[in-house]
Amino acid sequence: MSWQTVLGFEVHIELSTQSKMFCGCPANHFGKAPNTQVCPVCLGLPGALPVPNTKAIEWCIKLGLALGCEINLFSKFDRKNYFYPDLPKGYQITQYDIPFCKHGELLGHKITRVHMEEDTGKLQHQGNETLIDFNRSGVPLVEIVTKPDFISSDEGLTFLKEVQAIVRALGISTADMEKGSMRLEANISVKHPNDPKLPNYKVEIKNVNSFRFIKKAIDFEVTRQSGILESGANPVQETRGFKEASGETVSQRVKEEANDYRYFPEPDIPPLQFTKAQIEAWRKELPELPAQKRVELESLGVPAAIASLLVASPARLKKFYELTAQHPAPEVARLLTNLPEDKVSDASINRSIDTSNIDEDQIRQVAQKVITANPKAVADLKSGKQPALFFLIGQIKKQLGNVDISAVQSVIQDLIS
Ligand SMILES: [Zn+2]
Repeated sequence: MSWQTVLGFEVHIELSTQSKMFCGCPANHFGKAPNTQVCPVCLGLPGALPVPNTKAIEWCIKLGLALGCEINLFSKFDRKNYFYPDLPKGYQITQYDIPFCKHGELLGHKITRVHMEEDTGKLQHQGNETLIDFNRSGVPLVEIVTKPDFISSDEGLTFLKEVQAIVRALGISTADMEKGSMRLEANISVKHPNDPKLPNYKVEIKNVNSFRFIKKAIDFEVTRQSGILESGANPVQETRGFKEASGETVSQRVKEEANDYRYFPEPDIPPLQFTKAQIEAWRKELPELPAQKRVELESLGVPAAIASLLVASPARLKKFYELTAQHPAPEVARLLTNLPEDKVSDASINRSIDTSNIDEDQIRQVAQKVITANPKAVADLKSGKQPALFFLIGQIKKQLGNVDISAVQSVIQDLIS
């Protein structure tokens, strides 16, 4: 029997505002000495009053608009009460029943809500001790919640990458998963294909820090849960973690019932009221979004797959526009997508494209030798593996030094065709 995957996501995005959500401490906590960016507000000391960061609210709403959401003109903050050592106040300021943004849609998937909250501190386990760093406490955090309408990990991955590209296009976060600026949670269950209802359980996978691993975790869960159903049992509702080394998920916490967070309106922050004119003004400020950019690049002759890669990286896109002023768009696009991110802004790209004091006969001679010496790369290239092209170009460059890469590329293609 083939079971049907039911998959939804919660995505957390840490905003790169200057200051934290409710105080004046710097929001950029990455790599800073522990507990150096804290104050009575973000440490939750008695009597400290939170003041909302208006930039963070604007960015949250702009993200909602970019994700096709309706914006609640009346909104408020709430307290979510729970105890955990990384939460000094004993509650998190978040949004409960009236999020800033609701009912969005992206790539045909429904987005339930986009709301604003504050990040927690960070626990560091060292041997038998646990240390707490509160630099991250109170950093603006946006949560995007989808409906469970994804039916495969691939569909989910495409969606998550698009969210990342949109966040980066808006310039509101680095959305860097390794640094935790973008964090993924997947809710996974499996059901009989003819059953119209959602399953009566779900498994949450938390704290996965790469696209590759979230896909592995989802695929592992679908297989595991299908096996349990196949045997006539029912999977339990629980939170599971992903083990990178083994590619498996392991049980972390079995949920007997829904947590009771005793939400109530944040008494220290008055409700917020926006005007339609304000929202429309923010909508007009939205930059061109990835979907529009891809269409634009494809109209310049850049293949669809390469256009997607370029659009996902603001640094590459910026360089692309600089270089296409003087060079053909498809060539520039291919070059940039094959460079590591940290090499993209390097001026040597400019030189390698611009400099050409070596004539085509010289290139042809060296290229022929390199092609003869590297039959595997040639075979790869013939089967459409683009990195092989850049390997060959690299070998030729080793012998010729700075050389016009587009000329080398056309010579190689000429010689192997
Ligand atoms: Zn503070």
